[in-house]
Amino acid sequence: MKTKTFRIGGIHPDENKLSNDAVTRPAPLPKQAVYSLSQHIGAPAKAIVKEGDKVKVGTMIAEAGGFVSANIFSSISGTVIKVGDVLDVSGAMKPGIIVQREGEGNIWEESIDRSEKLERLEEHPELSPEEIINRIKYAGIVGMGGACFPTHVKLMPPPGSKAECVIINGVECEPYITSDYRLMMEKPNELIEGLKLVMAAVKVNKGYIGIEDNKPEAIKTITEKLQRRGITNIEVVPLQKKYPQGGEKQLIDAVIGRQVPAPPALPISVGAVVQNAGTAVAIYEAVMKRKPLFERYTTVTGKKLTKPSNYLVRMGTSFGELINLCGGLPEGDNKVLAGGPMMGRAVPSLEVTVGKGQNSITILSGDDAKRKEPQPCIRCAKCVSVCPMGLEPFLLAKGTIMEKWDLMEKEDITTCIECGSCQFTCPAHRPLLDDIRKGKATVMGIIRSRTAPAPAAAKPAAAPAKSNASAEKSGDKKPMWTAPKPFIEPTDIDFSGPKQNPIPEIITGPKPAVIPAGWPK
Ligand code: SF4
Ligand code: SF4
Repeated sequence: MKTKTFRIGGIHPDENKLSNDAVTRPAPLPKQAVYSLSQHIGAPAKAIVKEGDKVKVGTMIAEAGGFVSANIFSSISGTVIKVGDVLDVSGAMKPGIIVQREGEGNIWEESIDRSEKLERLEEHPELSPEEIINRIKYAGIVGMGGACFPTHVKLMPPPGSKAECVIINGVECEPYITSDYRLMMEKPNELIEGLKLVMAAVKVNKGYIGIEDNKPEAIKTITEKLQRRGITNIEVVPLQKKYPQGGEKQLIDAVIGRQVPAPPALPISVGAVVQNAGTAVAIYEAVMKRKPLFERYTTVTGKKLTKPSNYLVRMGTSFGELINLCGGLPEGDNKVLAGGPMMGRAVPSLEVTVGKGQNSITILSGDDAKRKEPQPCIRCAKCVSVCPMGLEPFLLAKGTIMEKWDLMEKEDITTCIECGSCQFTCPAHRPLLDDIRKGKATVMGIIRSRTAPAPAAAKPAAAPAKSNASAEKSGDKKPMWTAPKPFIEPTDIDFSGPKQNPIPEIITGPKPAVIPAGWPK
């Protein structure tokens, strides 16, 4: 099999796809579904329900808080019992909504087409590009590979740029995660139709599906489907296994051999629109089945976990409930990550819940859960050689510690994709990614404060903002922007997960006769 890959850096972490062969099952519905209103990049959504309101599966409970934002829908039927702060997966209390399940909690909005019939784009001439994007926007679709960028925004290229192709990201290069692999195996036709919808929305006639060669079955399944259906403008591109190939820029380089320039340039500047495999299926369901985004494929995995699994999870289900389904937390020390071991973040409690971007829950146990003691840098430059963005990680980490924000901006710290390859490779166990994340957040805040409109009372109104470093140098009392508190690794994880609830049946039903109020056309 001829394979391609990206040009700069990259690593080969040990593969632990423990749940590769675990067919996806629906997870039990939670007794309470807890939704953060910040499940996406951009403005938080705004609650449109109040305590005591009755909701069904698929009822909109929060609407987008701006253009870069996304609607949120209930994943169970029941009663709204709280509109207020809830524990977000980041560990912070953020505005949210809690719905209490009533009965089985599985009464769906009548508008959702629950039939299994595959709807093909060719059978729907009414679907103009605008109509496709409207439905995607209404359904609250965001990037489901973890980035959570609202999809409708990505499908509206800025003036002057033109899409030439769509690339589906089926790479899944994180060493433990298998949710996209299962999705590609279990819903290949929906994936293909989702890709066709994205191609129609951005008006291109060429699509690619990039899949690493450690998933030969997925490559074979989708290739065969395309051949059998006579689809010739979509190509499966086998890629060499290399981390972080799932990064948007690395994937574009690997698939079409074009390099996206440094920010603010976007993938569209080289003609590419990239969507994750899970997002493509969610797009199909939103546009063709009028099904908003309220459930997703999630892997629950870990070397010491009794039963690593893949679940179709309703949003708002707690990590604890899902871990209990897999046999509960292993004995001894554990670290529970939202995401995979390379890019995931430790969660502070098992009560945090699955949101739109939650492709996996990874449990690191025993020695894997412990950090090695950092040693002084030995200047081996291994971190430089593996960085896929051509950065100097040791310098960025050092500059962050020394708060050299001007220098960090010049060294392009904002282009770091937070892949963790540098930290993974460092023989001195330096916490490079942790430091660089803090530095990147600080520099991005400085840049934002420089471009933000000055407050009315500011004097002089047009004075350019300064970075913390230059503000300190000039004797200003307050820095222009304060770095956010670093994420704190939890020390005591709540080990008591809630009890298991009944597993809902996979229910199919008739196509709805009526298009509901609210849905585009
Ligand atoms: S890999 Fe680690 S030890 Fe080597 S230069 Fe980078 S930070 Fe220093
Ligand atoms: S985390 Fe950032 S600095 Fe480190 S290797 Fe990845 S892109 Fe480079």
